[in-house]
Amino acid sequence: MAEFNIVSMSGGKDSTATLLVARELEVPNLSGVFADTGHEHPATYDYVHYLAEATGVPIGWVKADFSRQIANKRKFVEIKWPEKGVPQAVVLAALDVLHPTGNPFLDLCLWKGRFPSSKVRFCTEELKRNPIIEQVFLPLMDGDSMVLSWQGVRADESLDRRYLPECDEVGGGLFNYRPILKWPVEAVFEAHRVAGIKPNPLYLQGCNRVGCMPCVMCAKDELREIASRWPEEVARVREWERLVSIASKRGSATFFTATNDPTVHSNDNISAATHGIDRMVDWANTSRGGRQFDMVDLIARTDSSRKCTSAYGLCE
Ligand code: SF4
Repeated sequence: MAEFNIVSMSGGKDSTATLLVARELEVPNLSGVFADTGHEHPATYDYVHYLAEATGVPIGWVKADFSRQIANKRKFVEIKWPEKGVPQAVVLAALDVLHPTGNPFLDLCLWKGRFPSSKVRFCTEELKRNPIIEQVFLPLMDGDSMVLSWQGVRADESLDRRYLPECDEVGGGLFNYRPILKWPVEAVFEAHRVAGIKPNPLYLQGCNRVGCMPCVMCAKDELREIASRWPEEVARVREWERLVSIASKRGSATFFTATNDPTVHSNDNISAATHGIDRMVDWANTSRGGRQFDMVDLIARTDSSRKCTSAYGLCE
């Protein structure tokens, strides 16, 4: 029976430590897989290349493709929107932007007509989990192979992760394995040091997590840091808000959920221009007395220990 050991890489410290453990154990057929969301900082892309070279472990890249879904949405917009009374100018504008760009994150949002949120978080599954399963795991699962999916998750990161088993069987010869589940964060950086592997440089530049830039679950201080260090990332999101708004029947799509702001009323005219990323950056630059958002969202965005904690370990 062939055995394949595949580490899901996010470009963050935990998946790197997991790769180092697997390499140390000299497991057979070891490789990494990195799902490119199209929404990572350039330093993370460079780091994944560096890791493959420095560790000698091949890291494959996968990307989600939403061309088919966007083509289906075009048909829907063309036929159904006019039937629902959507003005012709809105239909034509949507058709104008509804073309695959090749950027998975943007294409996913064009298809959905909205951005993911902490409550409707379809991004990890669509951009990371599904492409890895479809493009990497399934082709290896021939009924006679064992595939170990190595996941860099740690129990002390969240309640969701605290009760995960170290190993569980998915079925069809696929197993999840979480070798650093009980590790404290210090051990993660120690593993880098012992192996002579540099951590992702973003950790030295004010980021306490590595992943989408920014993540939809980004904390207030992270957003402030990102906006001041990398305004080009904010500019990219601003442009995405414009495009996704046009692809949305409501004519509005904001990267962070605008309706979580209690100063926004249901009959307010919400648009990306007035309630988009720039408004959130303004808020991120306020001190404690700044404009307040609802408590759930406020806690989410002011607590920098809060982050995307999917059980897959695909987002750090
Ligand atoms: S890092 Fe955040 S925005 Fe990116 S896929 Fe994960 S949860 Fe979604």
